[in-house]
Amino acid sequence: MNPSAPFSAAGESSGSKKPAPSGREQNFQQLRIEKISRNFGATAALAALDLTIRSGEFIALLGPSGCGKSTALNCIAGLLPLTGGTIWLDERRIDQLRPERRGFGMVFQNYALFPHLTVRRNVGFGLKMRGIPGNEIRRRVDAALELVQLQAHADKLPGRLSGGQQQRVAIARAIVIEPPVILMDEPLSNLDAKLRLEMRAEIKRIHRDLGRTTIYVTHDQDEALSLADRIVVLNDGRTQQIGPPEELYAKPANLQVARFMGYRNILELDLERVEGSFAFLAGSGLQLQGIAQECLTSKRAVIAIRPDDIAIEPAQRKINEAHPRNVIFGQAELVEYCGRDYLVDVLAESGVLLHARTPRRIVTGDRLRLAVSPERVLAFSPA
Ligand code: ATP
Repeated sequence: MNPSAPFSAAGESSGSKKPAPSGREQNFQQLRIEKISRNFGATAALAALDLTIRSGEFIALLGPSGCGKSTALNCIAGLLPLTGGTIWLDERRIDQLRPERRGFGMVFQNYALFPHLTVRRNVGFGLKMRGIPGNEIRRRVDAALELVQLQAHADKLPGRLSGGQQQRVAIARAIVIEPPVILMDEPLSNLDAKLRLEMRAEIKRIHRDLGRTTIYVTHDQDEALSLADRIVVLNDGRTQQIGPPEELYAKPANLQVARFMGYRNILELDLERVEGSFAFLAGSGLQLQGIAQECLTSKRAVIAIRPDDIAIEPAQRKINEAHPRNVIFGQAELVEYCGRDYLVDVLAESGVLLHARTPRRIVTGDRLRLAVSPERVLAFSPA
């Protein structure tokens, strides 16, 4: 589909009396979020978020529950006043504008549809509020419903639709006003696993087709990795790292980000020495070489390893025999079959529990040899 073609001419013939921002204002270069903060009493829900978003970019705000993701989104939408900082759409300061004057499209977790209005009237509601003429509304609503593949359901009430279909209505309603920016707050978290995957692909497709700037809140690492051009990881209201998915995955800036990027093996060990970028560590019966992610000055360091980075083989070795660094022997304690591979909890001989993934068929009780490349062991300073 031609990007934004169904919607692109709409603003031109609009009969809006006092128009809120519409399609034409998507032609901005940057949304600049400059050190925005929001306190609730003594709680700093969001502290100095600093982010410049290019037009058309897909940004994911990622972090655990209570880290400030929704607060950040609501501040950008104008639903929450800022405690500090400013927001700019190019040279226009917008943080003091009411939400409707910012004109951003919103998609919420609970869909927030009008139950007594048909799908068509739900999607057209924002256009009606903007005083757009009826024939123009019909044209734009049809285009939006086609984009989310809901033409056949246009005259139904939301209560007769599945959760995934209702969320498509919510997405159509957000895009039909041709907002400069679309804000999505955990839009998929009410859907079951299969539907979530389907809708994720759908959101990706819609973003590819329309090229709308999107800010997307999620606590799901996979969603953020698969959708976003850049991910912002938040923890306790503070920005931990901003970067493309590949960068956060391979080089998390700190342990919080590593945890969020699926580094499930996190262990504090003694730091023996540092040679160049390599750290040599020992403890808990393990001897490991890894990459120092930051300047390691204390006698201890914390290592992070992803389950996928641990290679598993059957063990062929006598207990207590010496073994090379980065090799660990143990026994399969718990095996989860995941379809393509197995997720294995391995109890190392030293008593440490490690998580590994392997396509090799493993059963509980198997004796195993684990090996991990030094490049895949990340060493951080203790918190
Ligand atoms: P979740 O994923 O659970 O929705 P979140 O990352 O979106 O969490 P926020 O809802 O932004 O987190 O909340 C951040 C912090 O601000 C939390 O400590 C929360 O308790 C607090 N908070 C949020 N809204 C309010 C409010 N209206 N009044 C007081 N405290 C609030």
